[in-house]
Amino acid sequence: MCFLSLARALQLCMTPALALGGPRRLHAVFQAAELPETHRMLRQTCRDFAERELAPAAAQLDKEHRFPAAQVKKMGGLGLLAMDVPEQYNGAGLDCLAYSIAMEEISRGCASTGVIMSVNNSLYLGPILKFGSEEQKQKWIAPFTSGDKIGCFALSEPGNGSDAGAASTVARLDGDEWVLNGTKAWITNAWDASATVVFATTDKSLKHKGISAFLVPMPTAGLSLGKKEDKLGIRASSTANLIFEDCRIPKGNLLGQPGMGFKIAMQALDAGRIGIASQALGIAQAALDCAVDYAEKRMAFGSPITKLQAVQFKLADMAVALEGARLLTWRAAMLKDNGKPFTKEAAMAKLAASEAATAISHQAIQILGGMGYVTEMPAERHYRDARITEIYEGTSEIQRLVIAGQLLKAYRS
Ligand SMILES: Cc1cc2nc3c(=O)[nH]c(=O)nc-3n(C[C@H](O)[C@H](O)[C@H](O)COP(=O)(O)OP(=O)(O)OC[C@H]3O[C@@H](n4cnc5c(N)ncnc54)[C@H](O)[C@@H]3O)c2cc1C
Repeated sequence: MCFLSLARALQLCMTPALALGGPRRLHAVFQAAELPETHRMLRQTCRDFAERELAPAAAQLDKEHRFPAAQVKKMGGLGLLAMDVPEQYNGAGLDCLAYSIAMEEISRGCASTGVIMSVNNSLYLGPILKFGSEEQKQKWIAPFTSGDKIGCFALSEPGNGSDAGAASTVARLDGDEWVLNGTKAWITNAWDASATVVFATTDKSLKHKGISAFLVPMPTAGLSLGKKEDKLGIRASSTANLIFEDCRIPKGNLLGQPGMGFKIAMQALDAGRIGIASQALGIAQAALDCAVDYAEKRMAFGSPITKLQAVQFKLADMAVALEGARLLTWRAAMLKDNGKPFTKEAAMAKLAASEAATAISHQAIQILGGMGYVTEMPAERHYRDARITEIYEGTSEIQRLVIAGQLLKAYRS
């Protein structure tokens, strides 16, 4: 399918209830035993793509730490790199539920490709779409939808990750230019990106309220890349420091208003967490598939090991954890699609799905026994890939803080 045809097909198939949105839609989807036709079509398209283009290459890309350039280009053609961007900016114009489903299927094939897709959609394009001027949207969105260029999101620093409001990177206005100095850490897509949204302090006295967001082209004078991090998992995606040394950008590259950066980052992360939850679902589903397939074929004591109740119980627990996390993730996505608050639900989804992915991929290795421990089978990669979902875009501890904070706020109001 060529660019946008996927989106158009989905839009044409939308039932009136779905197209209307609102609580009626939420209700309709939960009443249905299955996803609506539109989203099932999308899932099948992404599943076919992942099985054909991603899963067969994933082990080699992981081994070589190689960016999946050809696959990313094809994903651009399918509309998967700008899923909720309106067609006027060259995006697919789909909803967040569609994004979640696509992210799961892509990550099921290759978790590294999943995070590349997630960062471009949620963390790079998302804030520009929401807070950018018309001119910025034209310039910084359209070229990043086709797979020719991808973006990144630079919030974390060597000295602060969870405490993002303590940013020490600074931006100073000098005539018609902002001058950026400081180091951003752990930036996904850093080596492969053509632009970044970066957060820097414009007024230190205001603490997190003095942080602003900027759009920086890559490469650019005064911005250098750190070494590629040698990671446990998602090894086909690049992660590196961005080092700003008197990096000058035009005044017009400020995103939103001065001091809005922290709000922009937090809103991007709310949406991003639905993407990472979906990535975790994909990894977990791949691990479960691998375990079931192996267990059906593996003989022990004269029968397939799926005859053993101990193995069946493991599979049952894995399936329950996965389905529960998937429902939480879809609920968060649908709340977002219906314009409802979804901060708590996105945090719940990310927490449940990432912890499920870690537990499920752990048990998958157990079911494969020795074969789970070697690179000949994908189980060990799923286990390595799963672990990061409990760390980036807010650790599990930070998700618990967000959930408890929202819970108590509601109780006290
Ligand atoms: C592979 C990878 C890719 C990444 N990609 C990006 C990216 O693209 N852009 C970006 O900006 N960042 C990115 N990050 C950074 C990531 O978001 C941070 O690593 C994460 O937020 C945690 O921050 P930290 O590593 O500084 O840990 P710290 O904040 O130092 O936390 C260390 C430990 O203390 C706990 N902790 C901290 N504060 C609290 C608290 N208040 N209550 C309870 N426990 C707490 C944490 O949960 C954790 O267990 C990436 C990281 C990795 C590893």
